[in-house]
Parts: sequence; structure tokens; C-alpha cells
Amino acid sequence: MSEHYDILIVGAGHGGAQAAIALRQAGFAGSIALVSDEPELPYERPPLSKDYLAGAKPFDRLLIRPPAFWPERAITLLPGRRIVAVDVGTHRVTDGNGGAIGYGQLIWAAGGAPRRLACPGHDLSGVHYVRTRADVDAMIAALPAVERVAIVGGGYIGLEAAAVLAKLGKKVVLIEALDRLLARVAGPVLSSFFAAEHRARGVDLRFDAQVVAIEGDRRARGVRLADGETIPADMVVVGIGVVPEVAPLLAAGAEGGNGVAVDVRCRTSLTDVWAIGDCALHRNRFAAGAPIRLESVQNANDQAVVVARNIAGTPAEYEAVPWFWSNQYDLKLQTVGLSIGHDAEIVRGDSAARSFSVIYGRAGKVVALDCVNMVRDYVQGRRLVEQGLPFDAARLADAQVSLKAL
Ligand SMILES: Cc1cc2nc3c(=O)[nH]c(=O)nc-3n(C[C@H](O)[C@H](O)[C@H](O)COP(=O)(O)OP(=O)(O)OC[C@H]3O[C@@H](n4cnc5c(N)ncnc54)[C@H](O)[C@@H]3O)c2cc1C
Repeated sequence: MSEHYDILIVGAGHGGAQAAIALRQAGFAGSIALVSDEPELPYERPPLSKDYLAGAKPFDRLLIRPPAFWPERAITLLPGRRIVAVDVGTHRVTDGNGGAIGYGQLIWAAGGAPRRLACPGHDLSGVHYVRTRADVDAMIAALPAVERVAIVGGGYIGLEAAAVLAKLGKKVVLIEALDRLLARVAGPVLSSFFAAEHRARGVDLRFDAQVVAIEGDRRARGVRLADGETIPADMVVVGIGVVPEVAPLLAAGAEGGNGVAVDVRCRTSLTDVWAIGDCALHRNRFAAGAPIRLESVQNANDQAVVVARNIAGTPAEYEAVPWFWSNQYDLKLQTVGLSIGHDAEIVRGDSAARSFSVIYGRAGKVVALDCVNMVRDYVQGRRLVEQGLPFDAARLADAQVSLKAL
């Protein structure tokens, strides 16, 4: 008899694993399988560019649940199988070896693949991406022979890798196409703060810099920029964004483009197909209802719970406040809300003391906070974002006034 599961989850990352866990918590008693193209048990991705790369956390501490958890909950793991096609009519998916798996309902939680460089030399050895355990193991194995690292991309992945590699004593040059760090996700105050922190640890930051080629023969030896300069490097780390893994769903007729479109319950336009996590293009109320994809553990986990509840018969809608974190050196950045389209930026506390918050406003309301080593603001400010409260800039800026009081 061919394989068949009541619930088949494609992708065993944060979203997929949480969907299976939440289904059992909600009392769902049918069969559940988690299929993944990675060989590992479900594991956490955030430490990959932080403690795991630094050698400070072994892989078994990244596991989302201990190995025994999955059989105990009757959740079947199908590792090492990449799903390449979805047939909505017959309710079947096909893997890369032609194996078919039938489903009652399909939860697509396939995340995204790192956006690749397309310039000459992009495929030389020594060019690395940071998405999977295998990616980071390859970096760790290469590091002893590496002195100079060029990092392409000044977003969170590039900055976290820069922090770890600088701490390991590597000479790091970070190349960013725009004129500041974190330009897509934060305001200029936070960008300048992190730029100063990285420079203080010897990271050479290059802004407005376009990569035109990776130089080398077989091995990467440097990164050539549009202005003609070549930055010597034995290792190139690329962190330039994520392309959602949705091709099989779009080929099956799902609505979408940059992700697969889902409604408030995380249903795609295909019958019995749900989508969650990095690949789910959803209307987010914290982005003024705009269709967006969020690449965060919060989003993957919360959407997973929404789908599990809907499947288990307790209708639920996705409306969680977005939150995120990043660790660089001894700095803990915690973000709540989305600063997209902000028109006010208020600094609270002293950035020179390396403990402060940036509060973002849009149309007179608080929409997001970036808190650096400032857990109290992060916890208390959440309310301001959730409720979209109007703000008084002078009081917000006064670190003596607690956000709770506002
Ligand atoms: C290095 C790094 C650091 C991060 N740091 C943070 C952080 O500090 N805070 C934070 O909130 N977020 C962070 N993130 C983002 C966070 O990890 C993601 O948002 C989260 O993992 C998304 O969960 P997901 O289930 O959508 O996708 P994933 O966790 O990526 O899981 C998707 C899984 O599906 C598999 N897959 C893909 N296509 C197929 C297919 N066709 N068939 C079978 N399997 C498939 C993938 O290989 C993968 O195993 C980080 C991400 C990375 C890569």
C-alpha cells in the first residue's frame, strides 16, 4: 500500500515541527508525518549564525525536541526527501526519487533557500551560505585555514556571522549594497549603532558596494567590487536574503509569487493545503494589512499553532505581534512590531551606554521597538505596539518614565 498520512507536513523546521507538536496538543489523533529534505531531526536555525558557528553550542542542544519525542507522539519523521511536486487532485506529493506520499491535508512549511550570488565565480569553493546545519558545518571545517573573510550582506545573518568570525580572530570585511546596515528592517539610529560596534571590533564595513565577481581559480581568493577594488578573502559568506521554497505549490496552481498566498487562517488557495512560516505570504495587521512574508521563529511557530487549531476544529486566525532577536558580541537586540514605513524614530536611553531602545511611530502610533540590552523596554513596549497606542514623543524618550506607565 502506498504511503498516506492524514496530515503531511513538508518541511521539518520551526514551522513544520511546531505544527506537528501543536496538532497533538490540540488533541488531533490522526496520522502525522513530517517530511524534510534535510537529514537531521528538527532543529533550531537561529543558533547556526551565533553559538553553533562560534563552537559554543553542540548540535544536540539545537534539537527542537529530544529524539524520543517524535515516536512517543506518533509523529513520523521522513528525513532526506525533497518534495518536488504536489497533485491537489489526487492529494499526493512526489519526492525527488519519484516516491509518492498521499495526504488528507497538506501543511507546506518549506521555508526558504538563501538567495544566491549570480556573478562570475559564484560557485567557487569557499563561497558559503548560512541556512542549514550542513552549511555551517562546512564553514566550521574550513575555518582553520581561513584568515580573511568577506561577508556579502549587512542584514542580520551577515552581521551575526561577522561578530562570530571577528571574535574568532578573522579579518572581516563586510560588503553592503545599500548605504547602511539593516536598511530593510531598522531605522538609521540602529544601523549607525551596529556599524560603530562592528568597526570597534575591527570589522571593515563597505557601503554602497556592488559585488561583480568572486575571484579565484577553483577556490575563492577575493571579492571584486564594481569600483574595481578586489577585497582579498579565503572565505566568502553570503547573506543576501531568502527565496521562499514554493515552486511545487505555485506549479500546482496556488496563488502567490514571492511566497504562497495564505488567508488569516493560513489556508492557501488550494483545497486542503495550508502554508506557514518563511514561505507564507500573508496580510499582516502590523504591516497595515500589507501582504508580507516574515522570516522569524515567532511567525513560523504562531502560524503553525493557527493551522493546528483550525485542523483540530477550533477556528483560529493569525494576528500575533511580530517579534525577533539578534545576538552580536555582548549585544542582545530584541525587536517587537514592524518598523516598515515608520515616520518617527525616538531614541530612549543612551546608545553610548549600549543599553537603549529605538521606538518607531507611524501616523502617530507606536508600531515597533528595537531594544538593545534593554529587556524591560522590550517586555513593556510590546503592549504599546499590540494596541497601536498614540504616543507622546517627549515622554517616550524619557528613560526615567517606564513604558508600562505609558
Ligand atoms: C542562520 C539563521 C539565523 C536566524 N536567526 C534568527 C533569529 O535570531 N531570530 C528569529 O526569529 N529568526 C531567525 N532566523 C529565521 C528563522 O530561523 C526562520 O524564520 C525559521 O526557521 C522559519 O521556519 P520555517 O519552518 O518557515 O522554515 P525552516 O526552518 O527553514 O524549515 C524549512 C524546512 O523545509 C525544508 N524544505 C524546503 N523545501 C523542501 C522540499 N521541497 N521538500 C522537503 N523539505 C523541504 C528545508 O530544508 C528546511 O529543513 C534565522 C535563520 C537563519 C538561517
